[in-house]
Amino acid sequence: MKTFIYNVLPSRVIFGNGTLAQIVQEITNLGCSKALILTTPRQSTKGEQLKELLGDMAVDVYTNATMHTPTNVTDDAVGIVQKLGADVVIALGGGSTIGLAKAIALRTDLPQIAIPTTYAGSEATPIIGQTENSLKTTLKTLKVLPEVIIYDVSLTMTLPTRTTITSGLNAIAHAVEALYSKEANPITDTLAGQGISSIAKALPILVNDSQNLDARSEALYGAWVCGTCLSTVGMGLHHKLCHTLGGTFNMPHAETHTVILPHSMAYNAPYAQEAMAKVANSLGVSNAAQGIFDLSKSLGAPSTLKELGMKEEDLEKAADIASKSPYPNPAPLEKEGLLQLLRNAYGGVRPN
Ligand code: NAD
Repeated sequence: MKTFIYNVLPSRVIFGNGTLAQIVQEITNLGCSKALILTTPRQSTKGEQLKELLGDMAVDVYTNATMHTPTNVTDDAVGIVQKLGADVVIALGGGSTIGLAKAIALRTDLPQIAIPTTYAGSEATPIIGQTENSLKTTLKTLKVLPEVIIYDVSLTMTLPTRTTITSGLNAIAHAVEALYSKEANPITDTLAGQGISSIAKALPILVNDSQNLDARSEALYGAWVCGTCLSTVGMGLHHKLCHTLGGTFNMPHAETHTVILPHSMAYNAPYAQEAMAKVANSLGVSNAAQGIFDLSKSLGAPSTLKELGMKEEDLEKAADIASKSPYPNPAPLEKEGLLQLLRNAYGGVRPN
């Protein structure tokens, strides 16, 4: 077996159906008693319900979490944390809400409880992406790793079908890039295979039956496992491209991952054959990039950057940004190749 390094992260994970009921105990275990609940506007009712459950332990609900963690929203939320004297932040929602909790923790050192309701996986990582002046930068620090994650399958039942699909494919992207990461190791390899299979098995069921509890559990478990891959090894071209498209062109996170993934895989495939064979094996197909493209299509996921609102004339700028700052990736990063990748994604061409 090859030599490897694996960082075990200090996080407490509670997984199940109805687990939200344990939250008062979890706040108490942290030695806290004044929780600020965070949500997006769309999940404000859920936030209010949580506030009711917490009673005196909740200081308020802040409902303005925003995708790509703009720093002006963080400024506002930190002001409220200070004004109300909150001693813990609770993120109830997807990666956007969890991103806000992380940004608050980064500035205040407050503990966090994450209650993920999508499959993005941010709750499992010590990574924060923040956007200022249209540029998204990431930072890796244990300061932003949530102390507690409560996975409650019942909270994912309301996830709309389109978000279920794109968020699931976003999770698969973490696992795919983990398999060809420079820091790949036997543990993340195993987790990645399991995460890809779990999500690829659950999504076709959820498309037709969004309330299927077993498939919802399988998908949420897969999301945690894929998030763990993202947290422990470095990502490559795919995440870099999606990050550029999100931060600079304000493209929607999970949808962009969904559209780009088969194309970034095809770009890397000749240089990552072993990893691609593992992905193909987990999907039960012969070609990994085509397998992801076909799965995505069969689920009715968006397949072109065009339909996500990307302007064709911006593809060049995106290729430029993504090829400029160097980062580890199996295939060499050449602007012309990246531009072709983006053009394929723009038009939704099936990978060869
Ligand atoms: P999101 O959090 O923006 O959620 C999308 C929409 O779905 C929101 O309006 C939200 O309120 C709603 N929603 C979420 N769960 C729901 C549910 N169960 N029922 C009904 N509606 C629900 O989207 P996302 O894709 O989860 O997160 C994207 C953000 O997360 C991006 O900013 C991305 O950069 C970040 N992210 C960070 C990491 C990391 O490790 N730092 C990892 C993954 C994603």
